[in-house]
Amino acid sequence: MSPARRSPRRLALLGATGSIGRQVCDLVERNPERFRLHALIAGHDQAALDAAGRRHPGAHRLLAHPSGEPEDRAARAVAEAVQDPDVDLVIVAAMGAAALAPTLAALEAGKDVAIATKEVLVMAGELVRERMRRHGTRLLPIDSEHSAIWQCLWGEQRESIGRLILTGSGGPFLRRPVDSLAAATVEEALAHPRWKMGPKITIDSATMMNKGLEIIEAHFLFDVEYDRIQVLVHPQSVVHSMVEFRDGSVKAQLGIPDMHLPIAVALSYPERIESVVPPPDLAAIGRLDFEALDPGRFPAVALARDAGRRGGTATAVLNAANEEAVALFLEGRIGFNRVVGLVEAALSSMPGFGGHALEEVLSADAWARRHVRELASADRRASAGKLPA
Ligand code: MG
Repeated sequence: MSPARRSPRRLALLGATGSIGRQVCDLVERNPERFRLHALIAGHDQAALDAAGRRHPGAHRLLAHPSGEPEDRAARAVAEAVQDPDVDLVIVAAMGAAALAPTLAALEAGKDVAIATKEVLVMAGELVRERMRRHGTRLLPIDSEHSAIWQCLWGEQRESIGRLILTGSGGPFLRRPVDSLAAATVEEALAHPRWKMGPKITIDSATMMNKGLEIIEAHFLFDVEYDRIQVLVHPQSVVHSMVEFRDGSVKAQLGIPDMHLPIAVALSYPERIESVVPPPDLAAIGRLDFEALDPGRFPAVALARDAGRRGGTATAVLNAANEEAVALFLEGRIGFNRVVGLVEAALSSMPGFGGHALEEVLSADAWARRHVRELASADRRASAGKLPA
């Protein structure tokens, strides 16, 4: 990749209208000498895409799911946009499993991918790694924990790694009585104490499934076994994650909780951009607290780790079941505890672990979505059939 001084890095941005996508646009506007948006790709929100496009008039605009147009034609157009020879770096920040195909297309065209969508790795980490090996491409993490670990590993040897330590704020329900979680409302679950993010990841933070998905993401990004990836609760969200080395040394990356920073690290690597965010004022913050994760309060973390250890399509089932369950919760159709309950039910009744070919991943994904919807409908039928007390 050429240094920013010579020519701006040309970006294709998938998920242009989401939370991460808008922050990418901010950084491009603030650093026109470094970056240029070549393509802006959104899901189905034409008005939001046009608004982003007006601020970046040179960029091509594309909807991945345009209404009234065949999906396969739109998918081909997205693949062409990320594979365009004029694109230096593809940024994947679209929501969920829909980001898998464009990520694979980008890697197959020899593009490096800055990745914010952890679902792609959870669903198909083996497949993504195989494409990277075959085409000599890289994934640059945007997820703040993985950006932290990546930065801690710069200049280190793989053999020196002892453990990866993922920090998590604990979300809105860290202190709420466990027996009241079943009654948690959508509004309460969306009130994250530290990070302002999209609704899906905010619910994942409330269940801490987000941290479970991040364990799997870290496994595939850094090639470290599941037993050596730990989670530590850190309510202030200033230490974004840490690496423990074989000699007993621990490196951490600190910053204020603002996604502009890990986005900038991925986009400008190996350079750093001037003044992306103010550094944390540690004297004002005063203290940094850490505590062990309570597995009884947050069963999603162990569930995700187990799915990772099982391998094959178990993580695709975990991801798809979770996406569906979160959507059902946001629609007000299931209770908060049922989100992780449905994921667990899908994992325990999945027909087989399968391999990691694309067709197997996609059919596991489809099976899990169907199964979760069916279980939720059965729940509703059962509760409708109950006589009033
Ligand atoms: Mg994260």
